[in-house]
Amino acid sequence: MVTRARERVATGPRPGKRPSSALAVITCMDTRVDPLQFFQSRPGDIHAIENAGGLVTGDVIRSLLVSQRYLGTRRVAVVMHTDCGLLGLDDHAEASAIADEAGVEIPFSLGGFGDLHQRLAESVLMVRATPILPHRNDVRGYIYDVETLRLSEVAIG
Ligand SMILES: [Zn+2]
Repeated sequence: MVTRARERVATGPRPGKRPSSALAVITCMDTRVDPLQFFQSRPGDIHAIENAGGLVTGDVIRSLLVSQRYLGTRRVAVVMHTDCGLLGLDDHAEASAIADEAGVEIPFSLGGFGDLHQRLAESVLMVRATPILPHRNDVRGYIYDVETLRLSEVAIG
């Protein structure tokens, strides 16, 4: 893997520190999700911020703040997807099961959700409503269908 990464850097143009498309993509860590592929990007084009679900958490806001304030991104895409591992997960039941097994409470929400469109809308609106972020005029939501491989923009607000 190390050799392959070095070869790619040696043959292609070297990515800069600042994303050339000024786009930050928040998305899920799912194996079928590839943030570079969504917007026909190459290394150096975007910031990809990934976690379980592609949810807008405190740490995602931290990364987005760094991305916008210090590294020049101005646009945000939140991409959630069909068949997500968090879809239908019962947060309360799972949190109690984990606490029973581990003997300690988890200090965060697992992030399970029941409605993909609704959860996506909440995330987009949360980014738009976060005043510490300098660029909130172009925050869009998308759903990626892991069966058809299509990315669709969802009108929000
Ligand atoms: Zn997912």
